[in-house]
Formats: sequence, C-alpha cells, structure tokens
Amino acid sequence: MKKITIAIDGFSSTGKSTLAKQLANHLGYVYVDTGAMYRAITFFAMQNGYITSDYFDKETLINSLPFIKLQFKFNPNVGFAEMYLNGENVENQIRTMEVSGNVSRVAEVSEVRAKLVEQQQDFGKEKGIVMDGRDIGTVVFPNAELKIFMNASMETKAQRRFDELMTKGQEVTFDEVLKNVQERDYIDTHRKDSPLLKATDAIEIDNSNLNREEQFQIVLDLVNQKM
Ligand code: C5P
Repeated sequence: MKKITIAIDGFSSTGKSTLAKQLANHLGYVYVDTGAMYRAITFFAMQNGYITSDYFDKETLINSLPFIKLQFKFNPNVGFAEMYLNGENVENQIRTMEVSGNVSRVAEVSEVRAKLVEQQQDFGKEKGIVMDGRDIGTVVFPNAELKIFMNASMETKAQRRFDELMTKGQEVTFDEVLKNVQERDYIDTHRKDSPLLKATDAIEIDNSNLNREEQFQIVLDLVNQKM
C-alpha cells in the first residue's frame, strides 16, 4: 500500500501526540514528536545555565548547537521512541513544567529551528511517517498528503495537561498549567519564524467534545481516503 506523510499541527495540549501515536501504531508508521526535540534543546540550555525564566544567552546556545545530538530510540516497554540528548535518555526531564516554561522562547530562535527542521525532513524522506508539532504542514512537510490541525478550548487544553502532570506526580496547580498553555500558544502563534498556523490545506479538528476513539476514527477515515 502507498505510504504517505501525515502532518499533525495545533495548539499546546490538544492531544496531538496521543493521536499521532495511535495512527503510527495502527499504520505501522514511524512517529516523530518534534516538540520533544525543542524540549531537549531547552533542557540542554537550562542544564548549562544559558536560559532561566528571566535570562537567555541565545548566542551561546546558537554556538553550542553543533555539539547537541538528538536521537529517538524506540522503547518496546512504553511503545514509543524516547528522546536522547547526547546519548542520555531525557524523556522524563523534558516533560517538566520548568522546561515547558522556557521552551517557546528557545523555539523562537531561527538557528534552532533550522537545525531541527533539517533533521525532521531527513526522518521523513521515506514517507510512512506521522509527525506532530507546530510547523509540520507549513514548513517541514508542505507537501504532506494529509494535514490535520488540532484545536480545543483553553479550559480543555489546560485540564488535559494538568491531568497528565498529576499522573506523573508533578506538583503544579491548575492555574500554573493554564498560564503556561496560554503563554506558549501566544508565543508560538506570534513568533516571526514559522509561527503556528493552520496550513491552507489542513483539516481542522476541534476535539473539545470528542473522546480519543471518536477522534481516531475521524482521522482514520481521512487517512483511508488519502491512501
Ligand atoms: O508539542 P509540545 O507541547 O511538546 O511542544 C513544546 C514547544 O515546542 C511548543 O510550545 C513550541 O514552542 C515548540 N515547538 C515548535 N515547533 C514544533 C514543535 C514544538 O516550535 N514543530
């Protein structure tokens, strides 16, 4: 069967990665979580003291980019590929509120984007890929056969992220999570380089009132039409 490229973009905490993982498992495709790549670079910058909540040494981060190696390695125990930064598994460290608080400022840096987009395009050379992010249908794979743009109400998004962090045992309040999701969506949609926007040929899905299974079926129908 013909392999296609599936681009899933959208606002923070709209369930992009859940949907992308379901699709990739069902189709036997590769799944790439591009947010994890921006998070890993942010974690690197935090570890080295290049970024805090009120400070950002962009120049030093840019000069360090050639020394940052990102890899995804499939973990059969969890059923998806985990993020490795310079050989170290950082899957848990990149999901904290601290990283979420800094990542959108790192993702504004064009040099960071250029490095990651190149690697993402390389992952997708063979097609048979589901990639989620903010600029996949607009910048990374403008010719993707299927583009989905996901949205949900702000309350739904914050509640989902809050529940996820609670499950992981992180100590956060709902208001902190809400503020973070609002801030990230604002920075992501207003940045100069590759802002989050719906590609003209993307299909928008608002999943505020859809459960995982309903959403999956809708998108699977779209996939079958394209294949
Ligand atoms: O998808 P996730 O919420 O993990 O992404 C974290 C952040 O990484 C986003 O808020 C955004 O700033 C950045 N990002 C991006 N472009 C992508 C994927 C993520 O700018 N393709």
